[in-house]
Amino acid sequence: MKYELLMPRQVVFGWGRRSEVGTRAAGLGNRVFVVSGSRSLRASGILDTLFQSLRSAGLSVVDLGTISREPEVEDVDTMVHQLRSLCGGVAGDIVLAIGGGAALDLGKAMAAMATNTRSDTVLDSLEGVGKGYQITERPLPLIAMPTTSGTGSEATKNAVISSRAGKFKKSLRSDQMVPQLALIDPELTVTCPRNTTAWSGMDAITQLIESLITPKSTEITRALSKEGLRVAIPALRRACDEPENRPAREAMSHAAFLSGVTLANAGLGMAHGVAAALGVNCNVAHGLACAVLLPTALRVNRQVSEAALADLAPLFDTRQWATTSAAADFVVESIAQLGHDLGVPERLRELGVRKEQIAELVPTSRGNSMNGNPRPLSDSELQDILEALW
Ligand SMILES: [Zn+2]
Repeated sequence: MKYELLMPRQVVFGWGRRSEVGTRAAGLGNRVFVVSGSRSLRASGILDTLFQSLRSAGLSVVDLGTISREPEVEDVDTMVHQLRSLCGGVAGDIVLAIGGGAALDLGKAMAAMATNTRSDTVLDSLEGVGKGYQITERPLPLIAMPTTSGTGSEATKNAVISSRAGKFKKSLRSDQMVPQLALIDPELTVTCPRNTTAWSGMDAITQLIESLITPKSTEITRALSKEGLRVAIPALRRACDEPENRPAREAMSHAAFLSGVTLANAGLGMAHGVAAALGVNCNVAHGLACAVLLPTALRVNRQVSEAALADLAPLFDTRQWATTSAAADFVVESIAQLGHDLGVPERLRELGVRKEQIAELVPTSRGNSMNGNPRPLSDSELQDILEALW
């Protein structure tokens, strides 16, 4: 057996524990640059309470504002420009990102680019499209506080940045970008709208399954993936139907965090490869794209991943299966049923994808995620798969 595991330096998980942010942050620095994800955080007063907690612990707070979309190159560059001019490499500066995956990824990119000043644009450091500049300097310490339960960005080492003009969605990635502190308060997710809960929950489940069946998985990531699925599968419907159900919200936040750990250490697969393309080419939100693609990705990989999929059967039903093959089929169809029950569309055309766009989705799907798919897919096979799903 052989494995490595990269995780946030500290994880603080629990209902209401956002109140600890001040004392926790005081251990990391004395000035906090805050980026936040949704206007409702501000409107509901959660952000103000957070600032008070930070100030009463002796930290000064710089509010850098809100992002309400998945971050683009210009968003990062604007924020980084502001951050660099304010912080100037002073020891004691930290970044705090609170919000969904978009805000966390933006915070992560800002913390890294604040200290890696070789270029004025993050573009030069993005995988596959930039000049290949690496993150060589240690980023500012980052506190990640998720307000959705899905992307697991609080545990990962990459920030996904897109460009509408350049038609790409690529990662800024470095082991050093993993947050110093993941402060996960599931109570922050109770105000998520139903669809956000459903799509982000399906994103977490997709991440857990793809990182489970990829050949890059290890003993430790498989254990964490299975634990995440064990808690998420029975909880997701309940979290959607009863938004204030504490055990369901805790389960989904726990599963989302674990999905971040497993994806950071084992990678993903076809659903995430194509989801990136759907985001870039057709402006489909990440979680929704994953939710639509997951059943297809499982059917495509079903043969090579049969045993791992069959292992999940008891999460859906206690009945005994005569063969591994029957159990694997049951799991794939149960996942599809879960999406159906949550209102996930079944066809790409329901997402606004035009048939002629499929040809451009194929090359955009290639990247780090697709490389982890259990079996290789040629361009023509992928094109056929997406046409059948259209
Ligand atoms: Zn995802």
